[in-house]
Amino acid sequence: MGYLAQLLEAKKRVIEELSSIVGKEGVERARRDHHSRRAPRPCGITIHTGRGCTNACLYCYAMDMGFPRIDEPYPLKVEELVLALAMNPFVIPKRTFAAFGSVVEPLLPNTAGYTLQCIEAVAKRLRLPCQISTKMLLSEELLKRMSRAEPRISLLVTIVTWSYAKVLEPRAPEPEKRIETLRRASAVGIKASLFMRPIIPGITDREAPIILRACLSVGVTSVVLGSLRVTLGVLRRLENARIDVSEIVRRLPRRPRDPRDQVAIRARDLKHRVAAIAKSLGFTIFETACQANVWSHGEYCAACDFGPCGDYSSEPRLTESDVDELLEMIGSRSRCESIDRLRVVIRGSLSRDKAEIVRQATRRIVIVER
Ligand code: SF4
Ligand code: SF4
Repeated sequence: MGYLAQLLEAKKRVIEELSSIVGKEGVERARRDHHSRRAPRPCGITIHTGRGCTNACLYCYAMDMGFPRIDEPYPLKVEELVLALAMNPFVIPKRTFAAFGSVVEPLLPNTAGYTLQCIEAVAKRLRLPCQISTKMLLSEELLKRMSRAEPRISLLVTIVTWSYAKVLEPRAPEPEKRIETLRRASAVGIKASLFMRPIIPGITDREAPIILRACLSVGVTSVVLGSLRVTLGVLRRLENARIDVSEIVRRLPRRPRDPRDQVAIRARDLKHRVAAIAKSLGFTIFETACQANVWSHGEYCAACDFGPCGDYSSEPRLTESDVDELLEMIGSRSRCESIDRLRVVIRGSLSRDKAEIVRQATRRIVIVER
C-alpha cells in the first residue's frame, strides 16, 4: 500500500477508535458539527476551540460574524471535535495544516485548557502540523505543555500596534506582555513568529520598526504579514474611537454591502514596505500563515501559487500509483497522469471536492485534464 493510501487507512482507524470512545450520541454530535465538513482555508483547517472572544479588538470582524463576547470553550468534547475533524473528507492525517485561533482567541483563561487538550489530541491522533495564533500572556508551564503536545508547533503572536494598543485592543494583554510570551516560547524551544495581521494603514506600517525590534530583543526573527479586512462594524468602531479611517476607506475596493460582508483593503504596498523594514533587520518574512507552519515543521508544500515552500528533501516521494490508489479510495475513476515537485496532473473528470482532497494529500496544485 502506498503512502497516501496508508494515510486514508489511518484516518479510518482514528474514526473507529474515537467513535467507540464517544459513543453513539457523540458520533452524531461530531457528524453534525461544521468541523466535519468545512473545506480548509488557505492556512489549513481552522479549528474553533472557543465560542467567542472577550478581547474586544476594534478591528475584529469575528463579532460581526456572530461570535459573541464570551470566554467559553467550544461545546463539543475534545474527542468529539477531533472525531469531527477525522470525519472531514478534506482532512488528511499528517498532511493538512491545522490552524488554531484563526477566528477567535484560543487561549483565553477559560478556553486555554480545552485548546491545549485539542492540540494534544489532534497531534496524537491525526498528526496534523499545528499552528496557533494568540495575543495572550502565556505562562512557561502552558508553553511547555504545548511544546510537549506538539513539539514543532508554529506559534504566532499578534502585535499590530505599540502605541495604539490600548485604544485598538482595549481588553487584550499589552504588547509588552506578548513580547514576554515570545521570549518564554523561544526559551522552551517553540518556533515562534510575530503575526503582523492586520496591517492597519498609518499605524502598523509606521510602528513596524518598534514592534520588529522588540521581537528581535527576545530572539524572534520571523514575521507573518497580513492585511486588514473590514466590515461596516469595524469602520464604525474605529471611527467612534476617533481613528482616522480615511486611508482605510481609500484602500477599499468597494464598501461592505451588509453587516456580515468582509472586504480586504488593498495593502500590497504596505506589506512590501513592512517586509522591506523586516528584511533590513534580518527577519524571515512569511506571506501566509501556512508558510510559517511549514517552516516550523521542516516540511514541504506546493499546494498554491505562493509556493513551493519549505524543504523538499523532507517530502515523502509520491508516485503516480500513490495518487491512483488515493483516487480509487475516494471513489474516482480518474487516473494520475504525472506528479512532480509542483503539480499533480489528473486525467479524467474530478469534482472540486475530490480535487481538494488530492490537493490536501499531495500538497501540490492539482490540474485536471479531460
Ligand atoms: S483577540 Fe482576535 S478574536 Fe478576539 S477580539 Fe481581538 S481580533 Fe477578535
Ligand atoms: S505552497 Fe506555501 S503558501 Fe501555498 S499552501 Fe503551501 S505552505 Fe501555504
